[in-house]
Amino acid sequence: MRFLPVFLDLQAGPVLLLGAGDLARAKLRLLAAAGARIRYFAADGHHDVSGLAPADAARIEFAQGDPLSAELNGVIAILCAGAGDIGVAMSARARAVGLPVNVMDDLAHSTFIFPAIVDRGDVVVAVGTGGASPVVARRVRERIEAVLPARIGDLATFIGRWRKSMNHRIPEFALRRRFWERVVDGPIGALVLAGRQEEAEAALQDIPDASAFAGALTSGKAEGRVTLVGAGPGDPDLLTIKALRALQDADIVFYDELVSPEILDRARRDASRVPVGRRVGKPGIGQDAINKMLIESAKSGQRAVRLKGGDCFVFGRGGEEIEALRAAGVACSVVPGITAGVGAAAQFEVPLTFRHEALRITFLTAHKARDAEAVEWSALTDRKMTVVVYMGMTAAPSIRSGLLAAGRSPQTPVGVFARVTRPDAQAAVGMLQDLPDLIDRIDGGPAILIIGDVVAHSAPWREANLNRVLSKLLETAA
Ligand code: SAH
Repeated sequence: MRFLPVFLDLQAGPVLLLGAGDLARAKLRLLAAAGARIRYFAADGHHDVSGLAPADAARIEFAQGDPLSAELNGVIAILCAGAGDIGVAMSARARAVGLPVNVMDDLAHSTFIFPAIVDRGDVVVAVGTGGASPVVARRVRERIEAVLPARIGDLATFIGRWRKSMNHRIPEFALRRRFWERVVDGPIGALVLAGRQEEAEAALQDIPDASAFAGALTSGKAEGRVTLVGAGPGDPDLLTIKALRALQDADIVFYDELVSPEILDRARRDASRVPVGRRVGKPGIGQDAINKMLIESAKSGQRAVRLKGGDCFVFGRGGEEIEALRAAGVACSVVPGITAGVGAAAQFEVPLTFRHEALRITFLTAHKARDAEAVEWSALTDRKMTVVVYMGMTAAPSIRSGLLAAGRSPQTPVGVFARVTRPDAQAAVGMLQDLPDLIDRIDGGPAILIIGDVVAHSAPWREANLNRVLSKLLETAA
């Protein structure tokens, strides 16, 4: 991110605008409508404010003289639109005195840029693309416009009016936040969004005990809880809406090694983030210690999220955590995630089941050769069963020998799918007899193995076959 979105206080002083023509007029319109005071230097000497509402035009000061030597005291930002070379010179001057400056369509000379804006009164959404594509920013804005209730700004204003008095009535911060969440998500919020402000005011006034309304325990402490959230295999767009909501509500997030930074970024900005992952080969924090941290955070009134790669209940030890939380009397719930095997299947088009061909799926784990030896391979010889192996890279030779010894065909199609749904995802496909070689063709894990005839339907398999056919053709042609 090169440009951090911040909001400029237009009450703090005038904005200096230097420019001419339609470009300058568009910026005048934007600034004036937002309520800015504008000191306008017309680059061509002609102060054209046609098309502006008189009230807006009244906030424009027609500046004279050389802008490069103009007084900058009190100016909050400088804008150059359609100003040509003098805009570039102005940018140098602005930067010399530390004023934010924007030269339209000229990233190199700008220290701030204009986002696409959704304007709903007190609710303003700014969308940026770092200057890369205003068209993409506008498309994003359109989508946001579509999902935001029309009166969302009124809701913010409504709460703004009451906030101070609530600070006294509910001194505890976490509880107060919960109070406002109940208001926003409940009938009072609905009244404001429906344009029934007076009824909403009355309803808020009628709440006899604000703390009780916020869901306080008798101790006066906010009620903590733990949500186990499946983060999916890596792509943040694969989070469920519930997962996103839990992350946005969290006070603290305990996350695993496998959770990608992009997903962690979706958590509430001021939530604490605690890594509790176990790196392969390193001891890390033990499960008991993790359980203890979860319990303690909930008991101290926090809303904790336990964020795990994939799904919490697929080789994620979520079951143990839920048991520990229940035993400790901590409120908990589970949000499912897309497990890595399913993510791999979708990305590489491996239909895990296929009519007449694959009627069953087994998810198994074999972390070490020892684990593989303990697997009942004779239960996995059915040709119509797809076998999905987690943590199976190291044990791949043992997995191969186990399946072969049990009688599964050495020609069974297999796929190794690494870092699925992430930007650097990779696949290697071949036959069961070559499984360890396929692992070698992957530049590191985590990886899922899929074993079964369905792998022959996958995209990488089709591609490999096509390549084989092509090289045969080339050979014969040569
Ligand atoms: N709960 C997780 C699994 C945790 S076990 C889930 O439901 O997906 C860890 C194993 O998951 C890894 O060894 C690997 O086999 C698999 N895995 C997790 N993320 C993966 C990814 N992005 N790509 C491939 N395999 C992944």
